Amino acid sequence: MRPMIQTETSRVNFRWIMPFEEGNRDLKQLLGGKGANLAEMTRAGLAVPPGFTITTEACRAYYQGSNLPEGLLEELQQSMTALEQKKGQRFGDPTAPLLISVRSGSVNSMPGMMDTILNLGLNDETVKGLARLSGNERFALDCYRRFIQMFSNVVFGVESVYFEKILRTLKQERKVDTDQELTAEDLSGLIDAYKNTVKSIAGKVFPQDVQEQLELAVESVFRSWNNNRAVIYRRLHAIPDEQGTAVNIQSMVFGNLGDDCGTGVLFTRNPSTGERKLFGEYLTNAQGEDVVAGVRTPKAIAEMEQEMPEIYQLLSDTAAQLEAHYRDVQDIEFTIEKNRLYMLQTRNAKRTAQAAIKTAVDFVHEQIITKEEAIERLDTAHLNQLLHPSIDPSIALDVLAVGLPASPGAASGQIVFDADVAEQWSKKQMKVLLVRNETTPEDIHGVIAAQGILTSHGGMTSHAAVVARGMGKPCVCGCEAIEVDDEQKQLMIGGRTYQEGDWISIDGSTGRVIEGKVELTDVNLSDELLLLLTWADEIRHLKIYANADHPEDARKAREFGAEGIGLCRTEHMFFGNDRLPVVQAMILAENLKDRKEALDRLLPMQQGDFEGLFKAMDGYPVTVRLLDPPLHEFLPNLEELNEQMAHLIQNGREQSSDAHKLRQLIKKVRSLHEVNPMLGQRGCRLGILYPEIYDMQIQALFQAAVICIHKGIEVIPHLMIPLVGHYTELKYFHGRITRMAQEIFDAAGVKCEYEIGTMIEVPRAALTAEKLVPYADFFSYGTNDLTQMTFGYSRDDAEGKFLTYYVDQKILPNNPFQVLDRDGVGQLVELATTKGKNLKPSLQAGICGEHGGDPESIMYCQEIGLDYVSCSPYRVPLARIAAAQAKLAADRRDSNCNLA
Ligand code: PEP
Ligand code: MG
Repeated sequence: MRPMIQTETSRVNFRWIMPFEEGNRDLKQLLGGKGANLAEMTRAGLAVPPGFTITTEACRAYYQGSNLPEGLLEELQQSMTALEQKKGQRFGDPTAPLLISVRSGSVNSMPGMMDTILNLGLNDETVKGLARLSGNERFALDCYRRFIQMFSNVVFGVESVYFEKILRTLKQERKVDTDQELTAEDLSGLIDAYKNTVKSIAGKVFPQDVQEQLELAVESVFRSWNNNRAVIYRRLHAIPDEQGTAVNIQSMVFGNLGDDCGTGVLFTRNPSTGERKLFGEYLTNAQGEDVVAGVRTPKAIAEMEQEMPEIYQLLSDTAAQLEAHYRDVQDIEFTIEKNRLYMLQTRNAKRTAQAAIKTAVDFVHEQIITKEEAIERLDTAHLNQLLHPSIDPSIALDVLAVGLPASPGAASGQIVFDADVAEQWSKKQMKVLLVRNETTPEDIHGVIAAQGILTSHGGMTSHAAVVARGMGKPCVCGCEAIEVDDEQKQLMIGGRTYQEGDWISIDGSTGRVIEGKVELTDVNLSDELLLLLTWADEIRHLKIYANADHPEDARKAREFGAEGIGLCRTEHMFFGNDRLPVVQAMILAENLKDRKEALDRLLPMQQGDFEGLFKAMDGYPVTVRLLDPPLHEFLPNLEELNEQMAHLIQNGREQSSDAHKLRQLIKKVRSLHEVNPMLGQRGCRLGILYPEIYDMQIQALFQAAVICIHKGIEVIPHLMIPLVGHYTELKYFHGRITRMAQEIFDAAGVKCEYEIGTMIEVPRAALTAEKLVPYADFFSYGTNDLTQMTFGYSRDDAEGKFLTYYVDQKILPNNPFQVLDRDGVGQLVELATTKGKNLKPSLQAGICGEHGGDPESIMYCQEIGLDYVSCSPYRVPLARIAAAQAKLAADRRDSNCNLA
């Protein structure tokens, strides 16, 4: 429903605009994050320059009609009049000109992705007024030339390089290094040159009518919602395209009126480490975007304590007030105009995963939030950052330079200087490091493609730093010791020159830039994360198992808190150098006797593996899936074999024993060939055709169990039959396993509890689940195959062929191999679980496909009452948190239902 705002009797019912005094933080959907927080700060009595917000609804209406929505201009006019009254200035009036900023502001923060225009309202006349009022002609002209550049860039699409080139040339002519050294006369000339550029490049006259400026600016900010970088960013962060941006119109304050002015960015706690200490940067005598743009390297906020002690005190008090109010770390933008502090923005700070963990734990200890809130706040995708590799401290490194440690984690990659190249190379599976003087939002695709980012300019709040932190990419910025030559595609560090394609490494946790490729080590979980994980464990209902095939994986999984192995893909035990030839001999065997001989050789190896798994999982279940893939996967491919044969023939060795063996092999490979192997002789079908293979695995498993029992290890074997489609397949193995277990236990004189279950990967199995129940203690949904067979998409081909395109074109909301498809695949899972549990309440049900580590899928598993999820060891910590979040969401839903 549209808000009907009526504040002054003179005002009509406003549909599209809300003044700051009338909004609040709860109206984020309508006002965008920035607008809602500006309103909240205004209402809290903080010094916020007055203004108003054009709602996201207006933006959506704009996109529906491709025009500014009806009534918006009238409301804009009235809101400007109200603003003029508040400020005692008039828009376009040279005697007391009102200048405004026009800023985008989406619901979810999208730093730098959309457009902003500052100093709007300047023209040839008002600039004179500004000069007079500020007593500083140079300052006024400087604002004007910046405005022309920004406006023409955003509204007319004139690229900044044209203006920068003119500025550079002028500085060279005047033999000065900085913009500040240019005189008022220089700037006046620059303004004329800029206007001529706009005319020649865009074919437009720079508008002198301030009303026209305003209308064009608003429309351009709406349009910037759909610029390339914003679209890419939204896709990356799953922000809905239809949301639209708000536009904030705010009266200008100036941080560049002299040395008692400045502008800066402040975090209430350190966004990299989470340390409870003000963190930020500022520049004196600077405006708006200077700090974040990374053009001048700013000063640390601590210096302000000496330079402007009163302002510093007020700023830290305000920061504390805002943090307490929002109960979260704040990222604050401020401007000081003639010794007066103004707050321009506050928002929940983007932070590294490390900082997110530390602040969540600290907030609980400081009794600001509850443990549940701490868990709910965590962004599991972001936490991935903590599971990133780092550089082993014991390795001797050739450190080339040290920059700012902007985003933690280490990365090695081949140097690229251009975002497009980064993208192209990474598509070829190359690892690249994006090296730039500074990144801009246009580089977003290169940042996504790169392993890490290195910049020579810019501070910890520069664009590169903010974006990299958000994505969990290692980043070193402000590394002044490097020299980047974009044109020559060269990087110079301390007398050494690196070309595009050379390898270097960065350590985003320490700021080091390192020669060549370095070995990266495993991750270590911090004490705070371990604590949060124990809180998550207290909350969650879903058990978290791991998919682990080797004892080392099982140990890692335990370290990360897995409560068992939910899937051991036994075929992965067959690929080692010592095993593959035996497996191949087993496959090539012409008769049962030869096959059994090969299996006898495999048995001790397989048994040893199982012993290792039981030992690592002492007291926790180990779910072993009997052999699944088609046999041809263990043999070389036909093309390769044919080439070898051609080679032998070429060398006249076609009658040799090698050629004879090769012929046999080719014959076997041909006989195993299937048009659709994933729908062919695999899983339990293979086990039924060659029962001796499964027998060997069953024997190995129970013998391993017996040995471990003798060693005092608590073993809990779960045997799992893959690819069952008809209950008779499961029944067949149920009988066989029960008989063999009994024989082995009887012979050993010891026994253990064990379970037999089935994977449900074929839709028919889900549909006939009630028939499986008598033979199953558990159902494990193999959601990879189940997705493949439900959609009819080949899981090996779909992504490369059409699936990515489907997702891009929004034919599908996301890749169903990553996020469980609730409507189709999920329906099968839910149906089978309900049928199963109705008949056998003790039946355990869980998923073990890739979806087991995906938070959204975990949420669904909780909703439909599954018992566990199983995922790769490295995803276990995230799954523990996601499972706790899912439980909290379910509790909230239940309590809402009870209230309703
Ligand atoms: C599955 O199909 O979901 C599964 C876990 O088995 P695999 O991926 O080995 O086919
Ligand atoms: Mg499968």
